[in-house]
Parts: sequence; structure tokens; C-alpha cells
Amino acid sequence: MDHSQQRRAITVLGATGSVGESTLDVIARNPDRFEVIALTAHRNVEDLARHCARFNARYAVISDATRLEALRSALAHHGATAEAQAGPQALLDAVAHPEVQVVMSAIVGAAGLAPTLLAAERGLTLLLANKESVVIAGQLLMDAARTSGAKILPVDSEHNAVFQALPARFDPLHPEALATCGVEKIILTASGGPFRDTPAAELEKVTPEQACAHPNWDMGRKISVDSATLMNKGLELIEAHWLFGARPDQLEVLIHPQSIVHSMVCYLDGSVLAQMGTPDMRTPIAHTLAWPDRCEAGVERLDLASAGQLSFSAPDTNRFPALNLAYEAMKVGRSAPITLNAANEIAVERFLQGAIGFNRIAAIVSRVLDETPTEEIRSIEDIMQHDHRVRARALEHCAGEER
Ligand code: NDP
Repeated sequence: MDHSQQRRAITVLGATGSVGESTLDVIARNPDRFEVIALTAHRNVEDLARHCARFNARYAVISDATRLEALRSALAHHGATAEAQAGPQALLDAVAHPEVQVVMSAIVGAAGLAPTLLAAERGLTLLLANKESVVIAGQLLMDAARTSGAKILPVDSEHNAVFQALPARFDPLHPEALATCGVEKIILTASGGPFRDTPAAELEKVTPEQACAHPNWDMGRKISVDSATLMNKGLELIEAHWLFGARPDQLEVLIHPQSIVHSMVCYLDGSVLAQMGTPDMRTPIAHTLAWPDRCEAGVERLDLASAGQLSFSAPDTNRFPALNLAYEAMKVGRSAPITLNAANEIAVERFLQGAIGFNRIAAIVSRVLDETPTEEIRSIEDIMQHDHRVRARALEHCAGEER
């Protein structure tokens, strides 16, 4: 197919990360479909400059302003013509350049919120990987999309699977969206992570390296730890609540160690529609990039005959309490999901730094949730203030537990 008349102008936020680089890989396989406007990173100037040179990006944005000179040198070294920019405003500009039509939101953590929300406010096509921004600002994001007409396409593999299993007429902004399509519930699958079968007594001793060695997916370190605690699935429940308008009682989690069925939609006539594929983020990324068409993703094809058995079981919420914490935060609403996310980001960071044990992550999130009163959230400023307070509290708890 010739797409030369319709190359879409894209900004990739978090271009040096796992999702960001997979996005660039898919774009490289479909050069007639996309024109890269801006690529962003936090500190990694070397990879950012390399990608800018390869994709002929117009802007190279480093969010850590102290790295601007290093970025300029790296761009020169790689022969990239991109204009170097730095700092939080430059991150917003990467989305706001008038030519930008599509934004891949692949920054990790709450740091991705401001540019993600701006993309929704500007009515752009938002390819959403940065689940933390939906968890903490779901209402604001959906309201922004409702007002501006932005199209939010889920990149997270489970939500992308659900999106693919829903009818084309599904409108997430309709108040009865699932009911109108005859959907009873959504089942998110979870691999169970590297410690799926690890006895509870051994979980205290596991290392960051073991936690980051995911059996099926190759991901950034933060989401790898979230997968190991099952907090990732908890965040995904809240993400699904917002993206599909699902009530907490319409959302379930099933452990599926093979990561071949990426999620399922159950209809009131008894049908269950599942999306399958090899565990490779380039499939959901390519799906959103090409939507409503399809494009080549470079992904190994699924061979069910050699995949062997597919198994499913209920999650063990005693060994992995993070899942129930997320359910509770989703039910409470208001600022509770912000508390959950901020405490988790801090505890994961301290675990990755070797300061606290693995089991302490959920324990600290639980304590911070118990201690923090919920408040009404009306703006991004409300979110950031609540987020800062919770981070400070979570850091105190981590300091009290450090070994
Ligand atoms: P990575 O850690 O691999 O990459 C994160 C990216 O964000 C990098 O480009 C990094 O820049 C940039 N970044 C980090 N901190 C900041 C900051 N404070 N300000 C601005 N930019 C920052 O993450 P992943 O690609 O694994 O995940 C990205 C998002 O996608 C997460 O929200 C994750 O939950 C979600 N996701 C990831 C999946 C995966 O398979 N990896 C699957 C589904 C969802 P630098 O390199 O300079 O640090």
C-alpha cells in the first residue's frame, strides 16, 4: 500500500526506553507511514541523538535540563540535524508543535502525565503506554479527550487486546459504553511474573536483578518490578476502569503464564473474545500506529502447535497483596489511585537501589494508603501536590525500613 500521501507526524515521548525503541523499530519498518517530529528522553543523550539521526527528527528533547550541552555534542557526533531542547517546557513543546498529529506516550511513571494530558487536550491521536498517567489522572484524560475529540488508543498489551476484542463501534466516552456493546466483563491476563511459584518465605530475599528478569517480556526496570509484585496488574485494572468505562466488579485478573492470550472480553451471550500473539510489544504498538489499518511489526508469528498448553489460574493475593491494594484504591477513587501510584514508584525505586526488601514494596504502599486521607482531584495541580506529599511520606517509610 502506498502511504506516501499520508505520512503521519509523530512525537515519541520516552524514545530511549523499551516501548520507545520498539515504537521506532515499527516506524523503521513502515517508513512511508510516519514522519518523526520530536523524540524525547530523560538523561540518555547518546541513544536519543542516535535515534534522531536515524529518523531525521526535527527536535531532540532531553527533560533533564543539565544534559542540554551533552545532547548538543551527541547530536553533532551522530550527524543529526535535530534542534536540541531541554527541560519540562520542551517536553510539552514536543507535543504542541502544530504539525504533530500522533503522540506515543512512553515515559515511565507520573513524569509522563503533563505531556500526555496535553496531547489529549490538543485533540491528537494518543498512543498510550504510560499507564501511570491514566491511573492518576484517568478522569482528567477522558474529559480532555471528550472535549477535544482526541483518540486514545491503548498500547499496554492487555488493554490493546481488549480494544481489539471490542466492536469497532465501541465508544469509551459513552457513559454506558460496555453495556451498549453487550459486554459483561473484561479479563486481564497476567503472566504472574518471575516469582509466580516462589514460596512466600523466599520472596523477602529476592534481588532487583531477579525481579527484573521477566520470563516472557523484555521491559524497563520499573514495570518489571511491578510485574513481579503484581502491582502492574493492579495499575492495569485502574487503567481499564478508565479506558473502557468498566466498573470494578466487571474487571478480573487471570494468571496465564504463557503470555499468549493477552486479555479477553466476555459478552452477555456467553461469548469470550480473546486476542493472542507472541509476547512482543511491537504487536500492540503496530496496532495503534496503523489503526484502523494494520502494518508489519517484525514480530515472530504465533505457532499454537508448538506453543503447547495454555493454562489459567486465579492470582494468589496472599503472596501478592498489591493486586488487592489496587482494587481498593480503584473502588475508593478520588486521590486514592494517586496515593497508590506515588507510594509504589518510591518503594520500587528504593527496592531497585537495594535499600528495601521486595515484600516491603506492597507493605509500604499499604501503610501509606491507610494513612493518607483521600481528597477531591480537579486539576493537574491537585494531582501533583498530592503526589509530592505522598512521595515524601513513602520516602520516610522506606528510610524507616532500610537495611
Ligand atoms: P523504560 O524505563 O524502558 O523507558 C522510560 C523512558 O522514559 C526512557 O526514554 C526514559 O529516558 C524516559 N524517562 C524516564 N524518566 C523520565 C522523566 N522523569 N522525565 C521524562 N522522561 C523520563 O520504560 P518502559 O518503556 O518499560 O515503559 C514506559 C511506559 O510504558 C511505562 O509507563 C510502562 O508502565 C508502560 N508499559 C511498558 C511496557 C513494556 O513492555 N516495557 C508494556 C506496557 C506498558 P532515559 O532513557 O533518558 O532515562
